[in-house]
Amino acid sequence: GTLSAASILAETARRTPAAPALHFMGATIPYGRLWDEARAYAGALQARGIGPGDRVAMIVPNVPDFARVYYAALALGAIVVPVHLLFKAEEIEFVLRDSGADLVVVAAPMLAEAAPAAAAAGVPLVTVLLPVDAAGAAPGGAGADGGAPASTAAGALPRLEAEAAAATPIARIVPTRPTDAATILYTSGTTGTPKGAVGSHLAIVEQVHTALIDSFDMRADDVVFGGLPLFHAFGQTSVMNISFRRGASVILLPKFDPDAALELLNAHRATVFTGVPTMFVGMLEAAGRSEARPPLRFAVSGGAALPVAVLEAFAAAYGAEVHEGYGLTETAPTVSFNTVAEPIRPGTVGRPLWGVDVAVADDAVEGRIALLEEPGALGEIVVRGHNLMKGYLGRPDASAETVVDGWFRTGDLGSVDADGIVTITDRKKDMIVRNGYNVYPTEVEAVLARHPDVAMAAVFGIADAVHGQEVHVAVVAREGRAVDADAVIAFAKERIAAYKYPRVVHLVEELPIGASGKVLKRALVERFAAVPA
Ligand code: ATP
Repeated sequence: GTLSAASILAETARRTPAAPALHFMGATIPYGRLWDEARAYAGALQARGIGPGDRVAMIVPNVPDFARVYYAALALGAIVVPVHLLFKAEEIEFVLRDSGADLVVVAAPMLAEAAPAAAAAGVPLVTVLLPVDAAGAAPGGAGADGGAPASTAAGALPRLEAEAAAATPIARIVPTRPTDAATILYTSGTTGTPKGAVGSHLAIVEQVHTALIDSFDMRADDVVFGGLPLFHAFGQTSVMNISFRRGASVILLPKFDPDAALELLNAHRATVFTGVPTMFVGMLEAAGRSEARPPLRFAVSGGAALPVAVLEAFAAAYGAEVHEGYGLTETAPTVSFNTVAEPIRPGTVGRPLWGVDVAVADDAVEGRIALLEEPGALGEIVVRGHNLMKGYLGRPDASAETVVDGWFRTGDLGSVDADGIVTITDRKKDMIVRNGYNVYPTEVEAVLARHPDVAMAAVFGIADAVHGQEVHVAVVAREGRAVDADAVIAFAKERIAAYKYPRVVHLVEELPIGASGKVLKRALVERFAAVPA
């Protein structure tokens, strides 16, 4: 049989063509029109020779063209390669070469980095233009005053819109097999050279169906916040694909800003908020500055650990329960989720998705998988199921190291209790060893999040001659409050064991945050390793 992830948009367009699909900069695009435009883009790509198995790279922020290009490529049986929006020319060139891109679609504001990269890699480039405001707001874009150079540069280049107007829209989806590659998603590169995780049509479709059946009761009249970057698996699946399958609408925001987000949520009467923890913290701060609240029915958090204090504060401020899930780029991404079927368990990442096996392995065993069957045992989280990538593109070595006996090693430490509920303790590589004792930053951060003056805390280890590693924390104060370093240490000391509490507090204006919204721990380590305590 055949299965295409492009059906996610095509079928909804067929059934409810007049229903709103996207809200963007005051305009609303209904499903029927969005699919027609995607079919037209597909016609243009086809005229350029793109067909099944070809790779279409795209460097496009959260604007309607992201959806058009994504589904156009999928509908042709081509493989979509969404590129990280903060990548510079060299990194883009790497992805274009590594993925074997046959074409790259670039939003005008990203041309400055993308055009030299495409030229160097010998990959044909076609542009899509953005409304000026969106161009200014796009991460990695030329900035508010950068519209002019971007459009000048774009002027000389082929434009996808123009080619689509001249081409014949495709009439139907090109059939693909369920296990055919649909996407190549590069891991964000916080751990060395980016690797391309190859995901199948089946993985995308199963993510959507298991989520809609079990995870939450999304409805066709839901209005979903689309501030998570769509180039990342979290936004692609949990915002775009799930909403489109259900026929709900998505509010696109190219660059997350809490106040702008709150304004949009109110203006569109949003009912679902999906984000990473730093966005939840931002929304809490925004709620302190503005009275109006959107009619949220529920919220979804993932991508990093959500401190229970933040979950509770968000629920109180917005009147919406937060369902936390866990996932990775390599697993399409959701692995487990706090579903609506049972009371949420704050501090856990809920139950494995239907059809997905989660187990705990002895992380000391190299080269094979030794499962720890004792409920609650702490070890490396391993996963197998329909969500698992086909492998890392062109990296049999890395694939074989990561997928052992069919189990994917996540690199995360955690446990599964007797009820089957999964808890993530921390990333293996973020664990701090102080005087021989293991310290898990996530646990310390969850404690500090309860401090009334603390908006965000990021705990990390710095090499130390006496203790091996020392526990440091970078703290951002809540708006209108001042953080006292000694008070933070005392607060933690009172609540957690002596080997765990932070010895060094760095007061910072903001934390280093990547395009996917996560705190970049490595950047903190690099920054503060050089600073005398
Ligand atoms: P890179 O792979 O480039 O290093 P990354 O690790 O952030 O970047 P992603 O695939 O975006 O790559 O994120 C997956 C990781 O995010 C998981 O391995 C886990 O460490 C973390 N994570 C995701 N959800 C949660 C959660 N609910 N609680 C704790 N950690 C989470």
